[in-house]
Amino acid sequence: MHEVSIMQNALEIALEHMRRQNATRIHRIHMRVGALSSVVPEALEFAFDVVTQGTPAQGATLEIERVPAVCYCPACQIEFEPDGYFYECPQCGSLNVQIRKGRELELAFLEVSQQTADDRRQMTDGE
Ligand SMILES: [Zn+2]
Repeated sequence: MHEVSIMQNALEIALEHMRRQNATRIHRIHMRVGALSSVVPEALEFAFDVVTQGTPAQGATLEIERVPAVCYCPACQIEFEPDGYFYECPQCGSLNVQIRKGRELELAFLEVSQQTADDRRQMTDGE
C-alpha cells in the first residue's frame, strides 16, 4: 500500500521537527492532501495508526485537509475545477491547461509537547 510509505515519510519529518523543538510527544498532525495526489485519505488514516505504533506520535490525532483541484486555462484566463480525470477547459475545451492546486501532499503543521500535556505548542512548517 503506497499510503504506508507516504505516512512513514511524513512521520519521519514530523519526528525530526519534534526533536528540533526539544519536544517528546506529537499530539496532532495536520496534512494537506490534494484531490489529484492519488492518495486515499482513509488509507492514509489507517497507515497512520500502523506507522505511529511505538513512536512519540502514537495516539496522536491525524487531521487531513482535502484540497480540491483547480486548473487554469491560459487562453481564457479562467480558473476552474476539473471534472474527473480530464482537465479540459469548460469554456474553450482546451486540454492545454495548468494545474494550480490539487497535487498537495504535505505536512501542514504539528502540535508537539514536552513531558506534560499543558505545555503544548503549535508550530508551522515554514514551507
Ligand atoms: Zn479555455
